[in-house]
Amino acid sequence: MTSYPDTKLLIDGQWREGGGEALEVINPATAERIGSLAHASRADLDEALAAAEKGLRLWRDTSAYERSRLMRRAGELLRERADAVARIMTQEQGKPLAEAKAETLGAADTIDWFAEEARRAYGRVVPSRATNVTQLVIKEPVGVAAAFTPWNFPLNQAVRKVSAALAAGCSVILKGPEETPASCAELAKAFQDAGLPAGVLSLVFGVPAEISGYLIPHPTVKKISFTGSTAVGKKLAALAGEHMKRVTMELGGHAPSIVFEDADVEKAARLLTGAKFRNAGQVCISPTRFLVHEAVFDRFVDGMVEASEAIRVGNGLDEGVTMGALANSRRIDAIEALTADALAKGATLRAGGERIGNRGYFFQPTILTDVPLEARAMSEEPFGPLALVNRFSSYEGVVEEANRLPYGLAAYAYTRSARTISDLSRDIESGMLSVNHHGLGLPEVPFGGVQDSGYGSEGGLEAIEAYLNTKLVTQAV
Ligand code: NAD
Repeated sequence: MTSYPDTKLLIDGQWREGGGEALEVINPATAERIGSLAHASRADLDEALAAAEKGLRLWRDTSAYERSRLMRRAGELLRERADAVARIMTQEQGKPLAEAKAETLGAADTIDWFAEEARRAYGRVVPSRATNVTQLVIKEPVGVAAAFTPWNFPLNQAVRKVSAALAAGCSVILKGPEETPASCAELAKAFQDAGLPAGVLSLVFGVPAEISGYLIPHPTVKKISFTGSTAVGKKLAALAGEHMKRVTMELGGHAPSIVFEDADVEKAARLLTGAKFRNAGQVCISPTRFLVHEAVFDRFVDGMVEASEAIRVGNGLDEGVTMGALANSRRIDAIEALTADALAKGATLRAGGERIGNRGYFFQPTILTDVPLEARAMSEEPFGPLALVNRFSSYEGVVEEANRLPYGLAAYAYTRSARTISDLSRDIESGMLSVNHHGLGLPEVPFGGVQDSGYGSEGGLEAIEAYLNTKLVTQAV
């Protein structure tokens, strides 16, 4: 038996209903309603803002040591609760239970890392030109942060923003994902149960555009962090710019994944297929355009097809399932349309291509080869289980194709040549490049994109810096 909790708002330390009409939560594996979700009204947001101001005053004056201790306790609680949290996540998001549990344990690790690192958010002393002058560079929390997170990794997307902000001494209003609210609420519960003072973290849900339209311009809010599509990110960044707010934008991608002639082709096919269909392809750093040297193209595609046929699609709660349902019906419509368009324009179907059944949002792991550049999928982020495999013959040609789109989030490459790795490190226009393995997304390393994929980082030192202001104090005695 599984149970799924209804989700309330967390405002000023209280879990409560919202002033708006409650929303429904759907299990994507069955398309059935499994719970409800409180919906914040304008009055609820005003209360969250007032609580966040109060929380900020308390939290920024709490020592980094104490903040770290409390955060680590929250991480421990999440770890202890990982089995229950994973079941909640799978029911609302669709991903296999093992992936949901790994995400929960990963979220606990992220909290730990930020808790530790924030103890070292030092300023510095700059030598002055006069003996009686001292110049201090001081790091201060930005203030109240508003964070907006999506449904593909309900915990992971939220924990990166919340942990970095809390570690820096900010208070946070988190607008969680309406489709997958309950596992995100478990994150807030872990912090609350660890002793986080009321108001330091609020969790709200509702109509995304209404909430962002109110919070971003609000004078209380000093920092915006958003993860989602490029189209929405551009709107929110424009609004934030109008009000001169600091911003982190983690947006879409269309990752080029290059397999050179000298690569371990079988390993590349196995690892890239695993990465492609993880979370049913609903990952911003998902490998999308597979660019394979013509000499190894057939071997690579055969390996990918074989690996994709071994994927077991089904309800994420069922034993042995390795790919779950897509998170909502919009993704089914999008993948069907992109696949049909690519086939109509001349692509070859090598695996999958169709929705599975008529209950729940399941789609086959799909591989298309020789996809013309005019196909929409070659330029639009599929955000689903769709792999596009094309061939290349020269280094210059493949770099040009890799850099063709305005996106620049992740890129992957497989090669045994140190020279090629060094050239790619310089030539690929993206925020992240992972060569011969899949090593992106750990809390200790930067995570972010360039160009249409956004700006700012959600990992590493840069992620904490995003929640700190730099102040200069120069004093003469
Ligand atoms: P969408 O663009 O409507 O929403 C994406 C996310 O942004 C959702 O979490 C949504 O709640 C939020 N959002 C939408 N409008 C908003 C607004 N005005 N203010 C604040 N938040 C807002 O599309 P969708 O159908 O939910 O997702 C589809 C696309 O979103 C995908 O194709 C993908 O490109 C992108 N996406 C990206 C990520 C990521 O990790 N970068 C995650 C989820 C979705």
